[in-house]
Amino acid sequence: MPDYPMLINGELVAGAKQLEVLNPATGVVFATVERADEKMLDAAVAAAAAAQVGWAATSFDVRRAALLKLADFVEANAANIARMLVMEQGKPLPQAEMEVGFACQFIRYFVDQDLEPQLIQDDEQYHVEQRFKPLGVVAAIMPWNFPFMMAIYKLAPALLMGNAVILKPSPTTPVTTLMLAEPLRDLFPAGLVNIIIDQNDLGSALSGHPQVAKVSFTGSTATGRRVMEAAASSLKRLTLELGGNDAAIVLPDADIDKTADRAVSAAFFNAGQVCVAIKRLYVHRSIYEEMCEALAIRVQDIIVGDGLEQGTTMGPVQNAQQYEKLTRYLEVAERDGTIIAGGQRKEGPGYFIEPTLVRDIEDGSPLVDEEQFGPVLPIIAFDEVDDVIARANASQYGLGGSVWTADADVASSLADRLDTGTVWINHHLHFGPHIPFAGAKQSGIGSEFGREGLLEFSQRSVVNRAKN
Ligand code: NAD
Repeated sequence: MPDYPMLINGELVAGAKQLEVLNPATGVVFATVERADEKMLDAAVAAAAAAQVGWAATSFDVRRAALLKLADFVEANAANIARMLVMEQGKPLPQAEMEVGFACQFIRYFVDQDLEPQLIQDDEQYHVEQRFKPLGVVAAIMPWNFPFMMAIYKLAPALLMGNAVILKPSPTTPVTTLMLAEPLRDLFPAGLVNIIIDQNDLGSALSGHPQVAKVSFTGSTATGRRVMEAAASSLKRLTLELGGNDAAIVLPDADIDKTADRAVSAAFFNAGQVCVAIKRLYVHRSIYEEMCEALAIRVQDIIVGDGLEQGTTMGPVQNAQQYEKLTRYLEVAERDGTIIAGGQRKEGPGYFIEPTLVRDIEDGSPLVDEEQFGPVLPIIAFDEVDDVIARANASQYGLGGSVWTADADVASSLADRLDTGTVWINHHLHFGPHIPFAGAKQSGIGSEFGREGLLEFSQRSVVNRAKN
């Protein structure tokens, strides 16, 4: 069985302990990884702080060239990385290939940016410009749903801006991040990038570490609050991308077939384990029957299985805790609504939950009000637009939402009324390196992607010169 070392201070190192990594489709351990203790974490942060000083003095071109070599490595090893991604995360191989491809797109997008100062004022009296400087050591903490892409899309802008990075993947999906240990060792100065593995026990030491200047965290809202608490000790910069409970609102004039196709793919992609998956589908009562039927036909066509088997379109959920949580939501579905597709969990091996549609369910049910983060979708009928907007907004979350209608003006005005960081119209879940991504309310703080996402890894500094 392969054993994956961590990367600390330019060396591939063994840990204080090891961690076994399970394939969620088989329940079988397929890799062991080395795991850090707090002393090793301290060593990694100290190495990062030391290496960052030299890196901050390099030119943008030097950083860009190193990152492009990393993109070349990922491209050359894409097939192998995608395969391991399926084994650790569970998603079907084509989705894993897409994730690896996206990772490269993120690197290439960020290296195409520049860090030129922004001119604020230039007249007879003053020249004022805003410059972008590195922050220092960045802690990048990832969840288990898109582990590879997230490691890359935090790493690339942080390094480009002149920072050092500590990558900490989730304990259930550490392998594809650790596959980067060797190229990162070879491409960057010793200590500049470190990969630390834990068993959910080092996150707060890392996010509270006095030498860490910024935490870029993606994960649940509950953990995000703990990160914020730990970071408060030294007022660290924070980007928090947290949970969501995205509502899709389907108006009477929406195209039924197109909506059903796209809504199913946005609700069940990655077995529903997407922060911006459709998690509540509100359908106008006049088309409720028709829409439920159209959705059920499509959900019954989803092929559940091991992501490495050809033809699989949905894999297992990622871990045992998630499997138990979804099992409880299936019980809620049975109690609070009518199941029109799926409804069962498959007994082991593997963590398989059938893609499930639940109709005749109302707000107030935990399946509607909470973030299920899995393949169980409630379909709720509504009568009035004002009422459905209020229901969509009655959530602590505000990550994404969508409006489905043939009327572009109506869609555009409803978009202003949804309290979310993104509103899609006639689709859901589309994103990209050039599109800023941020959560409203308790779905997050700060923004990722786009130029804004890059600048989140900088300290802005105004230089204000008197001309006479
Ligand atoms: P999680 O919050 O349990 O874990 C995320 C990471 O935080 C892991 O690496 C974990 O080890 C680490 N961690 C645990 N305790 C910590 C602590 N006290 N301090 C710092 N880090 C700690 O999340 P998860 O279950 O892995 O992921 C699912 C959640 O992530 C869902 O709520 C989902 O919506 C959210 N998510 C959000 C986005 C987004 O961009 N908004 C993207 C993907 C997932």
